[in-house]
Amino acid sequence: MHSDPELASPLVSLLIIEDEPRYLESSRLLLAPHLHRIDTALTGAQARALLARQSYDLVLLDLRLPDASGHDLLASLRERHPGTLVIIMSGNSQIDSAINCIRLGAYDYLRKPCEPEELIKTLRNAAQKVRLARDNQQMQRQLEHSEQWHRLLINTSPDVIYTLDGNGEFTFLNERVSQVLGYPPDELVGRHYEIVVPEDERENARYLFNERRTGTRATHNAELRLKRKEDLLSGEGDGGVMVEISAMGMYRPRPDGSGEFLGTYGVARDISARKQAEATVTFQAYHDLLTGLPNRALFNDRVIQAIAQARRHGQALAVMFLDMDRFKVVNDSLGHLVGDGLLQGMAQRLRDSLREGDTLARIGGDEFMLLLPRVRSRDNAAFIAQKIITSLQQPFLIDGNEIYSGMSIGIAVYPDDGDNLETLVKHADLAMYHAKDHGRNDFRFFTHDLRHSLTGRLAVENDMRHALARGEFELYYQPQVDIQSQRIRGMEALIRWHHPERGLVSPNDFIPIAEECGLIAPISEWVLDAACKQALSWRAAKLPPVTLGVNLSARQIEHPHFVDKFIQSLHDHGIDGQGIEIELTESTLMRDMEGAIEKLRRLADQGVEISIDDFGTGYSSLSYLKKLPVHTLKIDRSFIQDLIAPSNGGTIVAGITAMAKGLRLNVVAEGVETKTQLDYLESIGCDAYQGYLFSRPVAACDATGLLQLH
Ligand code: C2E
Ligand code: MG
Ligand code: MG
Repeated sequence: MHSDPELASPLVSLLIIEDEPRYLESSRLLLAPHLHRIDTALTGAQARALLARQSYDLVLLDLRLPDASGHDLLASLRERHPGTLVIIMSGNSQIDSAINCIRLGAYDYLRKPCEPEELIKTLRNAAQKVRLARDNQQMQRQLEHSEQWHRLLINTSPDVIYTLDGNGEFTFLNERVSQVLGYPPDELVGRHYEIVVPEDERENARYLFNERRTGTRATHNAELRLKRKEDLLSGEGDGGVMVEISAMGMYRPRPDGSGEFLGTYGVARDISARKQAEATVTFQAYHDLLTGLPNRALFNDRVIQAIAQARRHGQALAVMFLDMDRFKVVNDSLGHLVGDGLLQGMAQRLRDSLREGDTLARIGGDEFMLLLPRVRSRDNAAFIAQKIITSLQQPFLIDGNEIYSGMSIGIAVYPDDGDNLETLVKHADLAMYHAKDHGRNDFRFFTHDLRHSLTGRLAVENDMRHALARGEFELYYQPQVDIQSQRIRGMEALIRWHHPERGLVSPNDFIPIAEECGLIAPISEWVLDAACKQALSWRAAKLPPVTLGVNLSARQIEHPHFVDKFIQSLHDHGIDGQGIEIELTESTLMRDMEGAIEKLRRLADQGVEISIDDFGTGYSSLSYLKKLPVHTLKIDRSFIQDLIAPSNGGTIVAGITAMAKGLRLNVVAEGVETKTQLDYLESIGCDAYQGYLFSRPVAACDATGLLQLH
């Protein structure tokens, strides 16, 4: 079927009501190709029946029907199918009534008999009208929809959207403004924008709110602070909301191509949260969160600035490196919370010793740095350092614990000790190590001699990495002597490092660094291996059997496979645990009591003996000793040293000894240097001792000699 695209496309339907069958049929045939669907009715009754079931876009109605009046049909069509276009057909004689029909709402009329072209043309017009009406309707629906849509978009926008007229008065604001500024949109419409601008932002605001430019030249993301309604009520204040505004001019096009300025359109985004986050991030990037002190980055910055200033004015400045003494012991035995509390307390106490303008920073676990930007002399710096040390004589009270903590301080002064950040920090670090070596809780200035006795951390770490491969480590042995029989009952293996340039380096200087940088594992393996070989060699030489003591660091025990690895190494050498003793400090055990109990039990099951090293220096309670498979307590050297004035030290040593006896533990005194000390130890029933009095730690061959003598 050929169909007229114009007529057929919108699926227009037609009902022809005509009592003359021939005329009806010929009209139908004529119109069929042009319309989507054509129904026919020969009588009014048929027509009503069809119309009751459905409606038509078009009706071609013969006014003269045998059973009905065309007028009545028209009237009911108008009433029930108001969207239907009715085209009346009538003979000449009825022209008046046809005109009447038009008045009654018919769309058009045709005179009968009519030319085929005319019929088609009229129907085509009617169909066109139907189509237009439909399009219109659809457009209307879409418009309504899109209007709602835009309203929704605008009002749910996360940004404030506004327009201003040429005078700077608001003409529109979306609902978001009530959340951001506290004004319902109505309250601001008609008001000048200055109502939301704080005094100090007026100048900035003028450019933004009067933006006349468009396109890429218009304002994009300019920051501005706005005043909220509540700020207005509570006076200026420095509160307000930070917003980011993008604005542009609005123009109505004129026929001549130019534009008439209508006002400004803008979008303001609330960026207070982001600003807050930025501020926090910036603070975090430059501060230590625990103490609130500047961190290394900020400290470095300040030092660089201070150096520039000191250089300009020919002044001096001091950089201090401060390292807490025994912080690890506190942290390990009393827990991180107390450790944190101590750091905070320390930060506060240091702050109290400083002047305004000095910068104190926390740069690592228990390390602080201090910048004194203007010092008149070294005495000046020494005075501050001394003040800090004196302030630390009072204990810290943290969580019910009374804690004493000192500081070892190294000082480097610009320009004598260095003229740049790196050198000053490095030299202060060196001086700090020097202070630690000389009894702690003290301060030292950098001197150029120090550069040669380098104990700087980085240098040590670097060299240590090569030390194993180069065979620079050696085990020394110090005898442990039974006080009653005066016989050697054990040997403690103590590591030594033969540094190619620095000579013999003390384990106190490199073991802590090895623990921090992860080198402790390979070093410990080497120690155990060397100790096992030595034990085998003494056995082979049929020397009197002695227990071989090995020191373990906390890091080793924490390793999940520590016990397996340890036992495996012994087995590799064909040794069982018998005759091996491990030395652990209290703080090592306190780090993970439950884990330690488990691990030590497994070792003890293999015959390994366990002794607590440096006993008395930790903060642990004695009750834990009952839970652990411990065999020996080694009383720390510091208590033995105090025996020179027996009145105080004596009671502690005697107390520990008595307590250990009660728990059936061996007691070994460390660092016995004098006969007086030994006599006292004997008098209180101490089992054994170690110390220079009998022998310093010595190389393996000398240790063998000592064993042969006994
Ligand atoms: P420690 O286990 O308490 O060892 C005793 C320290 O006191 C040794 O220092 C020893 O030389 C020293 N000493 C012994 N008798 C006297 C004395 O009469 N007077 C004085 N003033 N000192 C005496 P050393 O050898 O410098 O070792 C220091 C610490 O390094 C050791 O303390 C131990 O904790 C650790 N260490 C040593 N070797 C190793 C090792 O192989 N592995 C691990 N993890 N740590 C080790
Ligand atoms: Mg030891
Ligand atoms: Mg010790």
